[in-house]
Amino acid sequence: MTRGADASGQWPEEHAPVTPDWACGSCGDDWPCDTKRSRLLAEYQADRASLSVYLGACLAAATNDLRDAATASLQDRFIGWVPRNPRTA
Ligand SMILES: [Zn+2]
Repeated sequence: MTRGADASGQWPEEHAPVTPDWACGSCGDDWPCDTKRSRLLAEYQADRASLSVYLGACLAAATNDLRDAATASLQDRFIGWVPRNPRTA
């Protein structure tokens, strides 16, 4: 029999956020780290609106967790890196 993914759900290369610090669980950078950003863009490339919704939810949670951080810098960190859609409709 083939063993599937184990039940821990902790993949070393998952680059998932670790709350309440919102550091990357894989590389330790501020989340989303460069690797995660690249993956998110690839994952949501056909649906950038959903990416914005997802990041907005993360930002809201992070704003709640990181009360000492400036809101503007958090917005920049969570959403500001997303390339703007050239079509503004
Ligand atoms: Zn990472």
